Amino acid sequence: MDWFFREPPPIETPLRAAVRDWHRLDETEADIRIVAAAELPAEAHDRIGITARQLVAAVRRKRIGGGLDAFLHEYALSSQEGVALMCLAEALLRIPDAETVDKLIRDKIAPADWEGHLGHSGSLFVNASTWALMLTGRLLRRDRIEPGEGDLSAVLRRFIARSSEPVWRQAVTAAMRILAGQFIMGRTIDEALVRAREAERQGYRHSFDMLGEAARTMPDAVRYREAYEGAIGAIGKAAGGQRIEEAPGISVKLSALHPRYEMAQRERAMHELLPSLLGLARQARDAGIGFTIDAEEADRLEVSLDLVEVLALAPELAGWDGLGLAVQAYQKRALPLLDWLADLALRARRRLMVRLVKGAYWDTEIKRAQERGLDTYPVFTRKVATDVSYLACAKRMFAAGPLFYPQFATHNAHTLAAILEMGEDRTDWEYQRLHGMGEALYAEIVGRDKPGRPCRVYAPVGSHEDLLAYLVRRLLENGANTSFVNRLVDEREPIDEIVADPVARLEHLPHKPHPGIPLPRDIFQPVRGNSQGIDLADPRGLSELRSALAAVRRPWTAGPIVGGIELAGTAAPVFDPADRRRELGKVSNAGPDAVAHAL
Ligand SMILES: Cc1cc2nc3c(=O)[nH]c(=O)nc-3n(C[C@H](O)[C@H](O)[C@H](O)COP(=O)(O)OP(=O)(O)OC[C@H]3O[C@@H](n4cnc5c(N)ncnc54)[C@H](O)[C@@H]3O)c2cc1C
Repeated sequence: MDWFFREPPPIETPLRAAVRDWHRLDETEADIRIVAAAELPAEAHDRIGITARQLVAAVRRKRIGGGLDAFLHEYALSSQEGVALMCLAEALLRIPDAETVDKLIRDKIAPADWEGHLGHSGSLFVNASTWALMLTGRLLRRDRIEPGEGDLSAVLRRFIARSSEPVWRQAVTAAMRILAGQFIMGRTIDEALVRAREAERQGYRHSFDMLGEAARTMPDAVRYREAYEGAIGAIGKAAGGQRIEEAPGISVKLSALHPRYEMAQRERAMHELLPSLLGLARQARDAGIGFTIDAEEADRLEVSLDLVEVLALAPELAGWDGLGLAVQAYQKRALPLLDWLADLALRARRRLMVRLVKGAYWDTEIKRAQERGLDTYPVFTRKVATDVSYLACAKRMFAAGPLFYPQFATHNAHTLAAILEMGEDRTDWEYQRLHGMGEALYAEIVGRDKPGRPCRVYAPVGSHEDLLAYLVRRLLENGANTSFVNRLVDEREPIDEIVADPVARLEHLPHKPHPGIPLPRDIFQPVRGNSQGIDLADPRGLSELRSALAAVRRPWTAGPIVGGIELAGTAAPVFDPADRRRELGKVSNAGPDAVAHAL
């Protein structure tokens, strides 16, 4: 615990203070500010609308690819069978050998007691029921579901009853392959680099990501660091001295490099994570490739900025233009964050690669803020606000001129068209898309035979077992009925609706925050207020907590009081239940004399 009191107070330059101010800004106020920052001339809006409409029409006409768009279409995730198939396929992906997969299919697909397996940890159905929980909203919306049919097992049974075992095996195996190949570029970096070549010939670039989620222990972190080191070596070789903007690069997740990558453990992150990070960045610099730090949960942003600042100012990395990071537009503080980054680039006399994304953890951010009973959310609550924030950020990034190499990651045709309009007279920027997504869309604008724009593909590398968390993010994101990819494949959705100008839509909303998402402190109203938690990721909140705790950190004594007088006795030490080494004070218990005295 002592380390907690030794942490230095957060440094608040005016630009960093602005990032903190916007973090907890009232959402209506934040919306007003981003609408103003995203303003474009009316003719520009018209041109964006025309381009976006053309793009959507072209993608719908083609309906090509083996992308998620095609997957959604072929396996109809809005159908019960599609969902059931996904559940099973995902579980099968985790079985290491083909023989067991076969046994599993034989054993479980035959008319079986599906329910009997539900809730058995580690079994097929733990995974399946997870999917069911995530997707039941979708199932229940289906009006052709009859009573009792809404659960996963019933759907599976019906599907099985209608198909023979070989059909099942084929279907499941096909879905499995689609799923894995859909989202993973290769099981190893070498496999991924080979697979990338075909797309590179068509004009794509790549940024490879080693799949896997947050390290839980230091050995986990070491394993991930070694995986990144190996990958940087291989990517460097493949880059073969190309310009850094064109060469393949790597994306890293800092949560994979340290188990306590969090604001409340800032000093540990600075001492233990930073050396790994510096080592990897040095290696990427030597290999002549780009090195992008992924954006993760909002709680981690402050500490990530401290790390990025040290990296950007490190004399040993001077003159290297490959350092980059992702910025999430769904966070209210995205705009002031870009201002801070532009200033950092200026101070460090370097150009930063900035990847603008909307953000992949929206559901988590909402839930966490509610659990903690915070005053506000760190993210916007309306999808349209995130779209507007993205445009405002894009404008700000172009305005920063040579301080940034802007990278725009999106699969949304309107967002893409707006960027095309804003960056019309610049060549030093690129689009980005995820492997397996947005293929048809980007086929319209990438290619050596077209006057198109370069696009970098974010390419996950890893084994099937590492896929789950990544897949969950993709499915939550694309399963939402507000998601662009989802609306694009839904032919009933008119094109004009899909490509409607978000700035005008947000501006004209009478009530800007989402009416269905009350503030975290009000989620139990009208019954009661939510209990108020402490935001351990907020440097200002942490400082206040530290001062409050320091004020009560003194040796405490306790003893029996009789007639208003504390009686002397044999004092025994009392230790902190959270840290048994730390003595909190001393207590002397009432003995027979004290009791007699009191009586
Ligand atoms: C190359 C690449 C790299 C990426 N790297 C990262 C990364 O480092 N960190 C990261 O977090 N994500 C990352 N992503 C994921 C990215 O955040 C999502 O793919 C992106 O949000 C989808 O946006 P879109 O424009 O394609 O789709 P759209 O359908 O237009 O937007 C969907 C997004 O809108 C937002 N949203 C949805 N509902 C709401 C709501 N009610 N209120 C407010 N906002 C809402 C969410 O951000 C959601 O993901 C990356 C994506 C790509 C393509």
